[in-house]
Amino acid sequence: MNAEIITVGTEILLGEIVDTSSPFIARRLANLGIDVYFEDTVGDNYDRLESTISLAESRSDLVVLTGGLGPTEDDITKISLAQHLGLDLEIDKKALKKINDFYATYALGKPSNADMMAKYIEGAEILPNEKGFAVGMFLKTDACDYLVLPGPPVEMQYMFTNFAMPKLARLTSGSSLIDSRVLRFFGIGETELEKDLKELIDNQTNPTLATYAKRNEVTLRITASGETKSEIKELIDNMEKRVLAIIGQYFYGYGDNNSLEEVVVNLLKNKELSITAAESLTSGMFQSRIGNVSGASEVFPGGFVTYSADAKEQLLNIPTEIIKKYGVVSSETAEYMARNSKDKMKTDIGVSFTGVAGPDSLEGHPAGFFWVGLALPNGQVITKSVNFAKARNEVRDYATKTGFKLIYD
Ligand code: ATP
Ligand code: MG
Repeated sequence: MNAEIITVGTEILLGEIVDTSSPFIARRLANLGIDVYFEDTVGDNYDRLESTISLAESRSDLVVLTGGLGPTEDDITKISLAQHLGLDLEIDKKALKKINDFYATYALGKPSNADMMAKYIEGAEILPNEKGFAVGMFLKTDACDYLVLPGPPVEMQYMFTNFAMPKLARLTSGSSLIDSRVLRFFGIGETELEKDLKELIDNQTNPTLATYAKRNEVTLRITASGETKSEIKELIDNMEKRVLAIIGQYFYGYGDNNSLEEVVVNLLKNKELSITAAESLTSGMFQSRIGNVSGASEVFPGGFVTYSADAKEQLLNIPTEIIKKYGVVSSETAEYMARNSKDKMKTDIGVSFTGVAGPDSLEGHPAGFFWVGLALPNGQVITKSVNFAKARNEVRDYATKTGFKLIYD
């Protein structure tokens, strides 16, 4: 099934407001396995709206209209669509009562055209508006299905989530309950992830899988539909197992907004482990991100930013010979930095970063090459080198995340 989203409103075309509704709707349609092929914005003009509707119905299975359901002159969506389809408008008694009850006590009286908000196109299913007055509609025609939603985002989002989604889910999968789970990955690119999961992605029906690239990270949304919550949970659990069997080494957490630093700081809190860091390449980025998480002080007493070789010697007592012999960008220096920071701050864990942010190379290493060191509670120190040939701040971001992932593992 493919869909088209039409936002109606001259304010959008004038640049006075930014359309936030299309992305909201598009992401949710994608989760339902409905492909959005077109998005259009049209002003409050009968002819142009009608020609947009004509084009949309000729090429799309589902046409979603949002905006212009209000009572004023410029709210023309319902009338245009009804005229286009040659159908009449009828009045929904429940919605009308709600409008009348509200305006009965309203100081300024009822606006002349308020009843318009209770009107719907004959044959359409009414979607109630629990956050406002204008009813929404779902209408099946020979050419396509129409979903008509109000413009104000609070009204639109509520109606879409609570009334339109279950209907669309039933259309696409035959069941009306749906749920999804987001898995988060670091250390694998979106293309690589899709390649690794190709078989699962190609054969997806229920659950469906959708990938999404974030900054140097990828998320995977598993969406399933079914008749009961437990049935859906089982479907998602099974798919998660299959996904993690393939790319589990890159997995670190769940949710749309959960960050690596949150996951790691909370992990350290639970295990009652403290952490410090010695940062060269990242110059404080890692420690700053620890500070992003509330309650960070429980696990992080402070640490070091040692950019120059001098700073590494003075603040961390790293022997001059080590740096001279192996270089600043070396496994040995990373090891000393991690161990000495841990010893100085008397924490359980010490993390270190040293590398080449770029754009120039250093000590014969290309830009993007770095070492991360991790001093563990048992005294052992592990180091890892990575070559991430991207722009300077991407390298620093990637190194910071590599540090967090190493701790997570
Ligand atoms: P109303 O009864 O408020 O007139 P309506 O259904 O007629 O509702 P519009 O008049 O098109 O909707 O839009 C009302 C307001 O909602 C706009 O002024 C704008 O602030 C917001 N809005 C509408 N469409 C969008 C959109 N696509 N993205 C973001 N905001 C929007
Ligand atoms: Mg309006």
